[in-house]
Formats: sequence, structure tokens, C-alpha cells
Amino acid sequence: MNDTDLERYARHLILREIGGPGQAKLRKARVLSIGAGGLGSPLLLYLAAAGVGTLGIADDDAVSLSNLQRQVLFKTQSVGGTKVDAAKNALVALNDGVSVETHARRIDSGNAEEILGGYDLVCDGSDNFDTRYLINQTCVRLGLPLVAGAIGQWDGQLSVYAPHQGAPCYACVFPERPEADAAATCAEAGVVGALPGIVGSMMAMEVIKHITGAGETLSGRLWLYDALYAEARTLKIAKRDDCGVCGQTAPAI
Ligand SMILES: [Zn+2]
Repeated sequence: MNDTDLERYARHLILREIGGPGQAKLRKARVLSIGAGGLGSPLLLYLAAAGVGTLGIADDDAVSLSNLQRQVLFKTQSVGGTKVDAAKNALVALNDGVSVETHARRIDSGNAEEILGGYDLVCDGSDNFDTRYLINQTCVRLGLPLVAGAIGQWDGQLSVYAPHQGAPCYACVFPERPEADAAATCAEAGVVGALPGIVGSMMAMEVIKHITGAGETLSGRLWLYDALYAEARTLKIAKRDDCGVCGQTAPAI
């Protein structure tokens, strides 16, 4: 670590739980964010600031004016450009010691394994259930930990899914896909601007803890947040032997 890095990461280096060894682990880590939207914005900004060595961004959208109410990676002048390019510019401007890899593609069954397989840890901030279930299946198949956050209107939830370490996967906890009505996107249902800031920052925190080994992650627990009443609770969640994705009865993978 050179003098510039010693100064840049000084507040990490003096933390007992991170220190030099933890900062070196962050530098070596390869983290993929699926989605560069409301959740991906604070997530990626904090991970770049923290010195995570390689950040992947998968998103095939362009920046629109209605994104700017919550997607703090982007500026008014970003509107019309691709999200991955605007995100990369913002992250490199924040920390040019971080390598940013862009995937301007929608994750589907044909490319998921190829894209996710290049990373140590996957973060899901996607906005639809088809992608969520596909990402979970792919992470289980590849043995990758998954930090999955979700938001709707005034509510947020977050967990770390690591079935290869004995914890549940996403499908253990949410075996049934919600009805179409209950799965409205932000565009359809609305979302308060600061909410993804809270949940996306929590996602960054779980990533930093997972990589450095600090404290206890949300693996095996589900965090639920109600912004309207400023209430949060954490539920214990368990791996299911009959899970169709990670359980003993799941098809051989
Ligand atoms: Zn499972």
C-alpha cells in the first residue's frame, strides 16, 4: 500500500475489525452489482470508496430523468446515456484505484453463469422477480454468496444468502413468486427517494463485513425496514431441505 492509499483508507486502517489485512482483502475482492439503479447507486459508490478492487456493473438501461430522484450515481447531464457508462465515470472519479467492469446486458439464463462466474460475490438490486430467481439459482450453482436487497414504496428488506455455508438461499425464504399485483416495480408503485439510499448502503455494509470477516453478516437472518414508521426488525431464516434450488431434492447441478 502506497502513501496515498494509507491516507485514503486511513479510517479503515485504524479500525480493529478491518485494519491492513481487511483493506488488502477489499482490494483483492471482485464484486458484481446487478442493477445500477436505486440500490446499486449507494452500493457501488460505497464499495468504490471503500477500495473494493474490482467492481462489476450489469445493467442494460439508459439514465432517465425520473431516475434522478433516487439514483445518486447519476447527474442531470447523464440523462440519455447508458447507466453502466455513467456509473463507471462516477466511480472512477471517486476512486481511480478501483477497476470497473461494465456489462451492458440484461442478465438472462443464457449469460448469467458467464457474467456472475467472474466474481467472488454478487449483489442483487434488480427490479423484477424473474431476474431475482435466476440470480439466486446461478449463485447456488456457482457457490457464490448473494447480497440481495429489495425495496417497494416505503419498505425495504435485505439478507445475505450463502447456502454453500449452511445458510438459506433466496428460494428457501421466498419459494413462491409473488402475484403480479404484489410485484409492482418502482415505476408502477412509486418509491420514496431516500429509501434505496438506506437499503443500498446496508448492502454495501454486508459486502464489507463478508469480505473482511468483521462482525456477523445477515446470513441466516432477514432484515425488514419500514421507513414510514422508522421501524426495523430482523427475522431468523433457515435453509429448507426441500428447497427446489439448494435443497436435497433439488435437481442435480
Ligand atoms: Zn434454498
